[in-house]
Amino acid sequence: MSEEQKEEKFKKLTRRELLAGTGGFVAGVAVGSGGISLLLPPKEVEVIKEVEVIKEVEVPVEVIKETEAVKEVEISKSACPYCDGTFSTLGALRAHIDLEHQPTPTAIREVEGRPTYVNKVDRPTYEDFVVGTIEQFDQKNEVFSRSVWDEEYIKRRAAAPVIEVDKLVMLEGNALSAGAIYMDDKAGSDAPNYPGYQGHQMGYGGLYDWEEPVGEQKFPVSDPAEMSERIKKVAKFYGADLVGICELDQRWVYSKYFDSLSGASGELDIPYKYAIAIAVEMDREGIEKSPGYEASAATALGYSNMAEVAPSLARYIRSMGYPAIPCGNDTAQSIPIAIDAGLGELGRSGLLITPEFGSRVRLCKVLTDLPLKPDKPIEFRVQRFCESCVLCAKSCPVGAIKFGERTTETTSVSNREGLLRWPVDVAKCYIFWKTNRTSCSNCIAACPWSDMGILG
Ligand code: SF4
Ligand code: SF4
Repeated sequence: MSEEQKEEKFKKLTRRELLAGTGGFVAGVAVGSGGISLLLPPKEVEVIKEVEVIKEVEVPVEVIKETEAVKEVEISKSACPYCDGTFSTLGALRAHIDLEHQPTPTAIREVEGRPTYVNKVDRPTYEDFVVGTIEQFDQKNEVFSRSVWDEEYIKRRAAAPVIEVDKLVMLEGNALSAGAIYMDDKAGSDAPNYPGYQGHQMGYGGLYDWEEPVGEQKFPVSDPAEMSERIKKVAKFYGADLVGICELDQRWVYSKYFDSLSGASGELDIPYKYAIAIAVEMDREGIEKSPGYEASAATALGYSNMAEVAPSLARYIRSMGYPAIPCGNDTAQSIPIAIDAGLGELGRSGLLITPEFGSRVRLCKVLTDLPLKPDKPIEFRVQRFCESCVLCAKSCPVGAIKFGERTTETTSVSNREGLLRWPVDVAKCYIFWKTNRTSCSNCIAACPWSDMGILG
């Protein structure tokens, strides 16, 4: 490529400018600084900027154009979810919540280990926004599967340019992720196409195996509530950070599975009554460095942690004489299951927001017939908060997250129909991952809940 052509295709831009999105708040970006808190007041951020060395990278003009488009959108003030206060900076809002609404550590532990501002509710908060029939979702339509069959999307992704990254930085960054995902990648299976967390696990063996035998002796369960408490303790013993139980809503089971490695698809029949939803926390420092290699490695490690917890819990249940299948991203949608099980609420970013870790979690689940007592869903004003907070949308380098009001409109087959919400343009997101040469977690890092929870 000649220098002129190169100039046309790429524009010199610092990684910071690219990630700043609107040119304002920089979400979760920490370039060699050891980490900038998302909630630092602007003055302190300025000081850090002065001492930072910001490496220039060449950014494809397509990405810049999409970033410029985001600048047009009016940014609203952050409103407190617990009172009528509005604040012009997130730092001010955080200070206000700390002072006026945060419970003391003793009080936190008194309410079943959750923050006192968490309320149990009879129906999940997404139900207020259901405006049509919710059909089961075909796994084929999620963005990773579309990489196999959606010609238009495949072409768009293939045409997307990539940023230039120092070769040794890339080598070490990819090595960090390779180590982090190793547990999930191998997961005890010698099958050459073993998909780990990505796909339907029948027939591959390995930790996520569905065909593990169920113990002949059934442990008698006279009190499902007691057994539920035991299950939560055992899941935490295996490494879970949050655990909840719900009756399995068949709307969240994929209508068909899709194996993105082989292209195989087929009906799913999941007759089990309960889902045990599990969240594992992702490393805060790594995620704050999004969209760099450390953030990708933090995500990868989350998948490896899932591969320890869900299969171990499923084996525990099978050994007690009850059927159980461990699932990563496969078989059923993890986010609505986690909401039904009381782990959190749905945010503007399309992610689960938990009171403890925000969206800085990975989700897995175990489906079973072990007699259990379902938890209630929770609300902690995420719906109201997301109506005025736009930090995830602002932090997205490619405008994949919607500003403004909820809508029933969809951006592609990857969005569900029948729901008023902020649809995420997952194709734009995943294409940016290619451009960025590694994944992105800006929307997770930018979310105040990811840092504002009781452990924050
Ligand atoms: S992960 Fe995707 S949606 Fe989230 S900020 Fe990055 S590009 Fe945007
Ligand atoms: S950053 Fe978090 S709280 Fe703010 S709008 Fe996005 S999901 Fe909601």
